[in-house]
Amino acid sequence: MLENKVGMIFGVANQRSIAWACAQACAEKGAKLAFTYQGERLKGNVEKLTKDMDGAVVVPCDVTNQAEVDAAFEIVGKKFGKLDFLIHSIAFAPKEALEGEFMMTSRAAFLTALEISAFSLTQLALAATPLMKNGGSIVTMSYYGAEKVVQNYNVMGVAKSALESSVRYLAEDLGKQNIRVNAISAGPINTLSARGVKNMGAMLHHIADKSPLRRNVEAREVGNTALFLVSDLASAITGETIYVDCGFNIIGI
Ligand code: NDP
Repeated sequence: MLENKVGMIFGVANQRSIAWACAQACAEKGAKLAFTYQGERLKGNVEKLTKDMDGAVVVPCDVTNQAEVDAAFEIVGKKFGKLDFLIHSIAFAPKEALEGEFMMTSRAAFLTALEISAFSLTQLALAATPLMKNGGSIVTMSYYGAEKVVQNYNVMGVAKSALESSVRYLAEDLGKQNIRVNAISAGPINTLSARGVKNMGAMLHHIADKSPLRRNVEAREVGNTALFLVSDLASAITGETIYVDCGFNIIGI
């Protein structure tokens, strides 16, 4: 399904990361993958996870450092000569901004959250497109808090709204080059980042209770949706936010 396709995966921190589930799904279908990590702290994790993956490349890339972003794409360009898809699975907000009232968000926390969690998609799309010579697919990860108020999600909800809007604007810009851009809005999954949101455990219970499928989503299921979106099966889908949340978003009262 993805034989002869090259993908870049941003956001593997450990084996629980949504990015890792996406990578596994794509690798199983024959994709060649390049992985980025943020900071030396995570290098070992990513190298260990990918060591048995045929032809995998691992490069540093903190999105707040433009030189690192440029270098990462240069390495991928040199190694593979092209890029077919990119999975953006990164987000960050200071912990103190993920509890209490949204109104108390500091200027610094707001700018950091929006830069890393939303602007980085546009930044990476700009860097990726010269390598997407035969068209391509870009996928990012969003959450329901973009659209509705979710307690404690606060500035990350605002960042996800900006992210989903960016998906639509990028889809229009890049459609002419047959590059598709979509978001997956995933239900809550117990990852490193998710643990930064206060009362995550209560949220997981609530979803298992109220969602039509009466359970939480698994990272593997988000990975499978990413695989679909980067594959030719999704060739007419762009600018969308696709919910992978066991149906929770359709429920009113
Ligand atoms: P992870 O913590 O596993 O992944 C988040 C990744 O973002 C980490 O690899 C993290 O690195 C990276 N990151 C943070 N700051 C930067 C930066 N400056 N430059 C590059 N990378 C950076 O958590 P998830 O897998 O849960 O998160 C992946 C995406 O999925 C995020 O966008 C998240 O908002 C989204 N999502 C998650 C849901 C969930 O419930 N888990 C639900 C819906 C969406 P580091 O560890 O060094 O900070």
